[in-house]
Amino acid sequence: MRRWVWALGLSLGVAAIVRGEIVGLKHGDVVHGTIESQDEKGLRMKTFDGAELTIPWDSVAPEEAERLKKTLGLIVAESDDTIRIPGLRVTLASGDVVTGVELPGSTKDELRLKRADGPQTYPRNQLQSVEPDDIDALEAYKPKELYKLYVDEHGAPASVEDHFAAFEYARRIGAYEESLDHLKKCAELDAEWKPEVVKAQREGVEKILASVEARGLFEKIRRDVRSGEFNKAIAEVDDLTKRYPDSPILADLSKEKLTKEKIVDAQKTYFKKRISGDWISNVKELIRSKVREKDLSLQEAKNWTEKDLPDQTAKKVAEKLGIDVGTVRELWKGRVTLGNRTASYGNGTFLIEKLKPKKPPTTSGGSSGGGSSGGPRRRPSSQQQQSQADQGPKKPTPEEWWTAASPDVRAEWLRAYYAERTKDLEVARIDYSQCVKCSGKGYLSTLSGSGDVTYLPCDRCWQLGKDRVVHFR
Ligand SMILES: [Zn+2]
Repeated sequence: MRRWVWALGLSLGVAAIVRGEIVGLKHGDVVHGTIESQDEKGLRMKTFDGAELTIPWDSVAPEEAERLKKTLGLIVAESDDTIRIPGLRVTLASGDVVTGVELPGSTKDELRLKRADGPQTYPRNQLQSVEPDDIDALEAYKPKELYKLYVDEHGAPASVEDHFAAFEYARRIGAYEESLDHLKKCAELDAEWKPEVVKAQREGVEKILASVEARGLFEKIRRDVRSGEFNKAIAEVDDLTKRYPDSPILADLSKEKLTKEKIVDAQKTYFKKRISGDWISNVKELIRSKVREKDLSLQEAKNWTEKDLPDQTAKKVAEKLGIDVGTVRELWKGRVTLGNRTASYGNGTFLIEKLKPKKPPTTSGGSSGGGSSGGPRRRPSSQQQQSQADQGPKKPTPEEWWTAASPDVRAEWLRAYYAERTKDLEVARIDYSQCVKCSGKGYLSTLSGSGDVTYLPCDRCWQLGKDRVVHFR
């Protein structure tokens, strides 16, 4: 049975230090001896004839220097030797190959596979093949899971050497935080133990960790800009620049137009585009809840619309967009509108409209009279006209109309009023739609039993025949 190959190659760095070395120099010379010590400047070697030499790194042949630095632990190699564990290589119907470790829940019909991105279930009849194989451990486990398995297998490290081995393993699998913890532990337990190696490795891992974190922050900035979270993104750019001033990722910020200035620009453009919709929808919402207030009079509603609604709207929009009220007002002034919006006073048009009321016809033609070509016509006396008007419905006072109106009718009436009466909006034009009850005539006619037509003022538009419609932007 195969064993997991945890420890393979883990402690090369430490072992190599006391071994005899042949070091190739730049100009073709070689030095035979043992390496006594090393740091970022160079090597101290003791040759076999007893001489002690200090060799700066720039005297060593470049590829030789890199090999030695890696061996001596002075640079952190991005390890490419994958950790392999026994697992399964599964070929799907599509021809794609996945690898993982079989989970206990598998049946004869279904294969359950542990994968780094979570457990997967495959119906066996849809698989081309399932073969045991040595697979990349990171295909089946996340770095943290793999690290935990290592600790479970080896027990908690106690000695400096154990911690260093744990560090190297954690680093290889990409569990950088854990690897750094072990390095710190090495220094704590024995400050004299390969201080250069520990220091160099620590710097290397910190660099990797920083670049991983910087990359994560960078991705976050990109996501936040895409979802319109500009203030968050700006704070994150500050954070990234402050925490990782030397990171090459800062160059990517400008490459992808994610600098602070660019984000502020993008934010302005974005707000300019959406301010119009946001403003209007907040006006609507505020009006909608206002008109539902109990015992609210028309006069109060009008006062509120003119005096309070503009400020309340600016405040609500500011909250929603996460900017201050002044900026909202500025944006609103510079808004980009795609077209006009409309609001109609509806059957409350008579409250504000100064149009002349339509008079009903003064004649009352009987059905027996036939066409208009002649015949005697009875002119109704002025007294009769008066009595007709008296018979008709009584025009409500504005407050009566308001009290009787539904919340929807009230709300639209106030929107039209807001558009005309405040400076928030620009009225593009006013036009009229026909009264739906009298078809624009202003009066209603009824046929009496005797065939006479009686005219009554329309009790919707009150003889205006139309609704006032405000087009605004
Ligand atoms: Zn009407």
